[in-house]
Order: sequence, then C-alpha cells, then structure tokens
Amino acid sequence: MALIVQKFGGSSLSTVEKIKAVAKRVVTVKRQGHQVIVVVSAMGKTTDELIALAKQVHHQPPGRELDLLLSTGEMVSVALVSMAIEELSEEAEGFPGYFAGIRTDTLHTKARIKRIEPIRIQKELEKGKIVVVAGFQGLSPEDAITTLGRGGSDLTAIALAAILQADRCEIFTDVPGVFTADPNRVPQAKLIPLLSYEEMLEMASTGAKVMQSRAVEFAKKYRVPFTVRATFQEGEGTMVKELDVQEGAVVSSVSLDDKQAKISVFRVPDQPGVAARLFQALGAENINVDMIVQNVGQDNRADISFTVNLIDLEKSLQIAREIATGLGAERVTADEDIAKISIIGIGMMNHPGVAGRMFHALASAGINIEMISTSEIKISCVVRRKQADRAIQAVHREFIESQEREQSRTAPDREVT
Ligand code: ASP
Ligand code: MG
Repeated sequence: MALIVQKFGGSSLSTVEKIKAVAKRVVTVKRQGHQVIVVVSAMGKTTDELIALAKQVHHQPPGRELDLLLSTGEMVSVALVSMAIEELSEEAEGFPGYFAGIRTDTLHTKARIKRIEPIRIQKELEKGKIVVVAGFQGLSPEDAITTLGRGGSDLTAIALAAILQADRCEIFTDVPGVFTADPNRVPQAKLIPLLSYEEMLEMASTGAKVMQSRAVEFAKKYRVPFTVRATFQEGEGTMVKELDVQEGAVVSSVSLDDKQAKISVFRVPDQPGVAARLFQALGAENINVDMIVQNVGQDNRADISFTVNLIDLEKSLQIAREIATGLGAERVTADEDIAKISIIGIGMMNHPGVAGRMFHALASAGINIEMISTSEIKISCVVRRKQADRAIQAVHREFIESQEREQSRTAPDREVT
C-alpha cells in the first residue's frame, strides 16, 4: 500500500463531466489498495472570475477579504469531487485548507506555508477514506483564510507530500508533461521524461509556465520527487527529482520569453557607483532586472543596457530617465521588439563549448545576438522578436533533435557493451 498525493488543476475540473472522470480516476487508484489524498484547484477560470468580481466592488480589494473570496473557488471543487467519489461508492472526506492543518503567515494573496498539522488527514486516511483537500489555501496566525499565490494548489500538493512522506506525488494537468520547447512554436518538441528541480525552476523563470515556481522550490528544498502528467491521456509524464550532473542532459529544453523589454542608457560616466545608482533605484521600486550588459568605456563614457518585464517598462523607463539626467548621460531608449531564447540543462556544467554551439546555431540561421547571459545551467540570448520562432527552432534543432540523431546512431554500440 502506497500513499499517493494527486493534484488536479482547474482545467481538469472545469465541467461536471471532468469532475466525474477525475473521481473515477482517483477511485481506481484507491481500489488498487492505496491511500489517496486528492488536492484540487478551483474549476476552470473561477479564480480569474472571482478576482474580476472583487475589482468591480473595490479598486484595490483588501487582501483578507480577497482571500476569503478566492478560497471559495477551491471549496466548490472539494465538495463536488468528494460527492462524485461518494457517488462511486467510496468514502471521501473533503477538507478546506484550515481543517487540513495548513498554517501560513499573514501575507494575504501570497502567504507562505509555515507548518502543517495533518492529524485529521491521517485519521481519515486510516479509516480508509479518500481525503480531498482544497488547494491554494491556509490559515494565518490570526485565523484568517490566506491563499498561497496564483497556482498555489501545486504548493499544497507538494507540501502535503513532503510532510506525510508520500510515496508518490502527481500533478495532473491538461498537457502530457514538460516539453523540450513549446510545441506550438516548435512542432518537433517532445516530452522530457526526467528533469531536475533546478532545470524545472529555470524553465519557469524563462517563460515556460507549467507549475508554480514556489511549489518547485519547496519540492527541491524538501526533496519531494513529483510527476507532471495529463489527466485525460495515457502516459507517464515528466518525473522531476534530484539528478546528478552525469544523469542530466546537456540541454534538456529550449524556452522563449517574449514578455521583456530592453532599456539602454547611453554614455553614462565610466566611474564607480554609476551602475549601483541605476540598479538600486530600480530595485527600490521592486523592479526585477534580468539581463545587463555594459560595453567597454570610451573617453570615460559607457553604455548600459538591461531588460525588464514588459509590465514594468513604463516605470523602469521613468526611473532610468531620472537617474540618467542626474548622471549627465546622453539619452535613454526603450525597445519592446525583443525576445529572450534560453537553453537549460544541468549537463552543461560538465560540457564546455555549449555557448559556442548555441551562438553558431543562431548565426547559421542568420540571427543576430544582442545580449547574452549565462548561469551554470542556462544560457540566454536576446534577439529581435520577429526572429524568435526561427531562433528557437534553430537552437532546438542543434541541441535536442541532433542529440536524438546521435543517440540513435550510437544506440546499437551501447547494447553490445
Ligand atoms: N485556483 C488558483 C489559481 O488559479 C490556484 C491554482 O489553480 O493552483 O491560481
Ligand atoms: Mg494551476
């Protein structure tokens, strides 16, 4: 008998038919002799609709009441999924977050889990019941309902799997797993069977939104392996766990972020403290700067370019202009027509020359690179946005499709040895 946590996202619960199908799936696992905890999100786009509703009565809805409102979405799912399970003659017990013992801090709409007291869950499991828990919600020290940030049901599932030392944690969604690239942009993209926490986190931060980042961070911290798989399709999905550099692919995925803009400040004084002033001012306004390049100074002047999220562009531009004026810089420009292409893979730590291969792939496709940044397991290049699709396809071909060809060439030899 294994303890299995299964999380179902909003798209898997958007209709009564889907709720019944989810119940059936859960009951099948239970009848194979396992203990099952089901974590559910709100039906379909409910959370978006509730937020819109709140905004109709308040220009900036207060966090405490907003959380109260948002938590109702998951409550509906818990009740309906539990009923659907009972309809199949299995016993179910539905829990709001606070009965499940999920205690958080007081930071409404993005609360952090502080501790979990799963006594009631354990009791019901021991009685042989299927436990259904509302994702995305907890209780603050002030006994107010809190929510865990958008996509927070993932976190509920991972946290419960951690505290209860579940044998399996499965995140069910509307795609078969994590892909080597967005299949809408790269038709040759394929499912990644095995991925490390680090790669999954980098993918989330480079534009591939599969799971809540906080949930992946939590899984990494407490070493909770999990799978991402489709609710209504066959397949094992993607397993995410701790991987050695040797086990990991040199490049496991290619991602595209076209929601950034570039700001350039021309001819700032080339002296200590200039970059500090600019980026401290941006930091003070909570603006996340991603890539930064500064060229080699000439006649005591240098140019600095950096990227920010598109939504922060106006504010960043205003700050950059103020600082630039104070510094006596020449001018500030903004450029929205950019895209960031990234390759991610823990295996690249062991393989020199990966950056060169990426630049060559882009050059061969006639694509100019405007900015570059690297980390241990990621290389990103900024290119013109209209070339984004061509760029991502060229890079995917170089690292993913060519790897496949190489593997199939060497496979027979490997069988012999
Ligand atoms: N319903 C919440 C949201 O839409 C939580 C979740 O789906 O995980 O963000
Ligand atoms: Mg979700």
